[in-house]
Amino acid sequence: MLHADAHGAYERGAAWRRQPCEHCGGEYFYFNEQLGYGEAASIMFIGSVEAKHAAAREASGDLLFRLKHFGQLVRCPDCGKFQAAMIAQARQELASRALRRGIAWTLLPVFGFAISAMFIKAVEWPMLGMFVSGLLGGVATLSIWYLARSFDPNQDRYLIWRPDKETEQKALTRKAFEFLVAEGAIQDDGPTAL
Ligand SMILES: [Zn+2]
Repeated sequence: MLHADAHGAYERGAAWRRQPCEHCGGEYFYFNEQLGYGEAASIMFIGSVEAKHAAAREASGDLLFRLKHFGQLVRCPDCGKFQAAMIAQARQELASRALRRGIAWTLLPVFGFAISAMFIKAVEWPMLGMFVSGLLGGVATLSIWYLARSFDPNQDRYLIWRPDKETEQKALTRKAFEFLVAEGAIQDDGPTAL
């Protein structure tokens, strides 16, 4: 029998990020922490080691891409605001997580009722169950997805999710950052593995 396996790999890393502020025109620095993900498939046992290596390589590449292009929800230490790109990224992540989970939690009872329909004589009840759970799940998923899309921490519109307090306040002003680099307290020499 043919056996295929998917190998997934994660790599965590961080790098200092310079962030211009679009609200007050200043700039700030923070230690941007990201998680890279890679995936590769192997067939039977042949290629399983290679697949693991390929997944790890892909995770490293993804991590570097994320460190370069993605940031975290970190407030400007001068004016206290978040940047539009950070909010857009968080909205997208929240919305796609809401969709994935919502669909999974909707399909679960729908399949449950579908299976029970095979064993119950009065098919109307499982059918009704499928319809009701599908409808409720669909409405709940869409509502949470909509709430995720309207997430805006600058307007205090959190609704379903609050940014991590520690992350949100970890920015350094340019002065503090330059002082700490000069003192040797922090090193700014590119991505670091975590
Ligand atoms: Zn600012």
